[in-house]
Amino acid sequence: MIKIALLGSTGSIGRQVLNVVDRYPEKFKIVTMAAGSNAAIFNEQINKYKPTIATLSNPEKAVEITSIPNGTSFYYGENSLIHAITDDVDIVFVAVMGYSGLNAVKTAIEMGKNVALANKETLVAGGGLIMPLAKKHGVKIIPVDSEHSAIWQCLDFNEGKKFKKLIITASGGAFKNKSVSELETVTAKDALCHPTWQMGKKITIDCATMMNKAFEVIEAMWLFDTPIDKIDVVIHPESIIHSMVEFDDGAIIAQMGNPSMEVPIQLALTYPNRFNSDVEPLNLIGKSLNFKEVDYEKYPCFPLAIEVIKKGGVYPCAMSAADEEVVKLFLEEKIKYLDIKRYLEYALSKVEDLPLSFENLEKVDKMARKAVYELYNKELNG
Ligand code: NDP
Ligand code: MG
Repeated sequence: MIKIALLGSTGSIGRQVLNVVDRYPEKFKIVTMAAGSNAAIFNEQINKYKPTIATLSNPEKAVEITSIPNGTSFYYGENSLIHAITDDVDIVFVAVMGYSGLNAVKTAIEMGKNVALANKETLVAGGGLIMPLAKKHGVKIIPVDSEHSAIWQCLDFNEGKKFKKLIITASGGAFKNKSVSELETVTAKDALCHPTWQMGKKITIDCATMMNKAFEVIEAMWLFDTPIDKIDVVIHPESIIHSMVEFDDGAIIAQMGNPSMEVPIQLALTYPNRFNSDVEPLNLIGKSLNFKEVDYEKYPCFPLAIEVIKKGGVYPCAMSAADEEVVKLFLEEKIKYLDIKRYLEYALSKVEDLPLSFENLEKVDKMARKAVYELYNKELNG
């Protein structure tokens, strides 16, 4: 029986983790759960899974948690999710969105707990600190993001295995068939219509701009200890190949399947074993697999992000923080789609190049967010 702390239970990934747990109740147990604001769903979840600890980060929503089961301790408040990381769990499943994942992962590592990592912001912001910390504590960081799970599978679950190149596939997002001029008028609603994956709102917008792919390049650099020049990104609109690894002899191994996060989620909990899943088997008959280069004109955030990755240090953290706020503004229809890159550039220009430390990540995260609103208010007031 694997005992799980599930952080972000109410989200897209979190709910799929619970589907996997429901499929194999004799193998998995949810011991603790954490969510952000969605009190209605969290209420149902805690009554179904009866965790020993339940936490809700939004204090204003805590009053809506009306029925706490006997035996469940309930915490709320900004940093409450840390309480869900307890000694008696075997693995911490980090499925929260955004920077809040970083501190949770750090805490889990320091408590010697293996981490199943869906939250990509952790490695984007703090990979340079998190990976050495995990090594020091002998803790595994298990990839959940589908591309990294694919690479890990191609490497036989051995992230240290020698390879020549990682080839990360990208769907191209909601606007893959739009021309550059058509992007001037697209809305948040349009951007939320992802062609192949059902995900949370923030990551869906990041797929449209391809910031998500840039984040995945950073994730891959840390998870597979590799420089950026050994990582290629290709647009593969069908989302059938989830990523590939090229070896020294020229062989390329790809992981394929119908797009479903339940496969990488389940595998993070069962590897090296594979159990049945409910994913529809892939029928390749009649299907075509296409590959294209990333069009930098259409996805200008991508080359911007690659430059930031090359700069390194605290800059990827600043980029991730700014992106969280910029995406929020776009979702609230306060800025246009084509403003996103400009806002990111502005925020990055306002960030100090501080030495890499957890303390400085915190500072840079705040600086970048503040800069986004600085520009927004400036433009709002003409
Ligand atoms: P969602 O927005 O659907 O869910 C986010 C979850 O995080 C919710 O449970 C939310 O709670 C919770 N949350 C947010 N902030 C806090 C906080 N401060 N404290 C506690 N809980 C918090 O996102 P996704 O599930 O789509 O994505 C989660 C992470 O996984 C992201 O980092 C994303 O990039 C990554 N990922 C997602 C994929 C996907 O297919 N969805 C694929 C690969 C990676 P609430 O809803 O209650 O506010
Ligand atoms: Mg992905």
